[in-house]
Amino acid sequence: MACLEKPLRMCVVCRSKISQKQLLRLQCDENKKLVPFRNYGRSFYICNECINNALTENKNKKKLEQTLFRVCKNKDEYIIQLKEILTHVR
Ligand SMILES: [Zn+2]
Repeated sequence: MACLEKPLRMCVVCRSKISQKQLLRLQCDENKKLVPFRNYGRSFYICNECINNALTENKNKKKLEQTLFRVCKNKDEYIIQLKEILTHVR
């Protein structure tokens, strides 16, 4: 079982281990703004499912928001920033 061809990464929201392709890699710019990963610094992953759930259901949106507050060690309009990122990345 140790043979893993695809690297798995953990979604910070649901804590599932998922293949990297199904995850969005993000980072907090100086704990202030949510940005796509820029190849340096600390980053984290959110899976597509958590993103889609957050955009469709308010309870999931709150969960995602709380997670981002924790990961970024700050409180900000992270969901709005995430939506902005999604319109550019996809
Ligand atoms: Zn997830």
